[in-house]
Amino acid sequence: MTQNPSAPARVLTVAGSDSGGGAGIQADLKTMLALGVHGMSVIAAVTAQNSVGVQGYWELPPEAVRAQLDSVLSDIGAQAVKTGMLASPVLVETVAEVLAGLSAPVVVDPVGVSKHGDTLLEPEAVHAMRTVLLPVATVATPNLWEVEQLTGVKVIDERGLREAAEAVRALGPRWALIKGGHLPGEPADLLFDGEREYRFTAPRHDNRHSHGTGCTLASAIASHLALGEEVPEAVRLAKEYVTGAIAAGFPLGAGIGPVDHGW
Ligand code: PLP
Repeated sequence: MTQNPSAPARVLTVAGSDSGGGAGIQADLKTMLALGVHGMSVIAAVTAQNSVGVQGYWELPPEAVRAQLDSVLSDIGAQAVKTGMLASPVLVETVAEVLAGLSAPVVVDPVGVSKHGDTLLEPEAVHAMRTVLLPVATVATPNLWEVEQLTGVKVIDERGLREAAEAVRALGPRWALIKGGHLPGEPADLLFDGEREYRFTAPRHDNRHSHGTGCTLASAIASHLALGEEVPEAVRLAKEYVTGAIAAGFPLGAGIGPVDHGW
C-alpha cells in the first residue's frame, strides 16, 4: 500500500447501519467527521430502526464483510479501527481474523443490546466475542450489561468497576473501559490496563435523547488514537466529546432521539 503523506488520519468502523441515523455506522461517521479524521465503513448488518426501536436486522454474508475489509485495508489503510454491532458468530470470527493481522489499534464496542432492549448480538456469538475478538482489542468498551454478558460479573455500585475491568481484561484486551453510566450517582467510567487505573466522571445530563452514545464514544476513542493520542488521553478526549453530544441530544420521532454531533 502506498499512501500520500498528506492524506488525513483514517479510521475504519466495522458495524451495523442504523436507518434512523442515530447510532451504528451513521453515528460513527458523524463522530469521525466532527473530529477531523477520514471515516470509512465496513457494514456488517443492516437494521430497520427508528426512535422507537429496532424493527428488524439482516446481517451481510461473511464474504461481503471480508471483501469490504480487504478493499479498504489493501488500498487506503486505517490508523485505527472500531467495531460495533457484528450480529452473528461467523461475522465476529471473520472480523477478528482480519483485525488480528493489523498493527493499527482496535477499539471493540461489544454491542449486545440496544437501549430499547433489542438484541444486536446473537447469544451464540458471545462466545466468539470472548474468545476471538476481545483478544485482538486495544480497548474494549463494554457497558455494565455487556460486562455481565461477557464475564458473569454483576456491578451494582462504583466499587465493582475494578473487578469488572479485571474480568474483561482477562479475556485479552490491552485496556478495559467499563462504562458505569447506568449506576446511581455521578456517571463514572473506569479505564484499566492491569496496572494503571483512570476514573472519568462527568456531570449527569438528564437528557433521554442519547441514542448512539456507545457508538459515538468508541468512534471518538478510535479517532483520537488515529490522531496519535495514547489510550488514556484518547479516552479523556472522547468522553469530553460524548458528554457534549449527550447534552445536546435532541428529540426525533416518537421515542428516543440521538446525540448531537454538531454541538
Ligand atoms: N443500532 C446499531 C446498528 C448499533 O450499533 C447500536 C449500538 O451500538 C445501537 C443501535 C444501539 O444504540 P443505543 O443503545 O445507543 O440506542
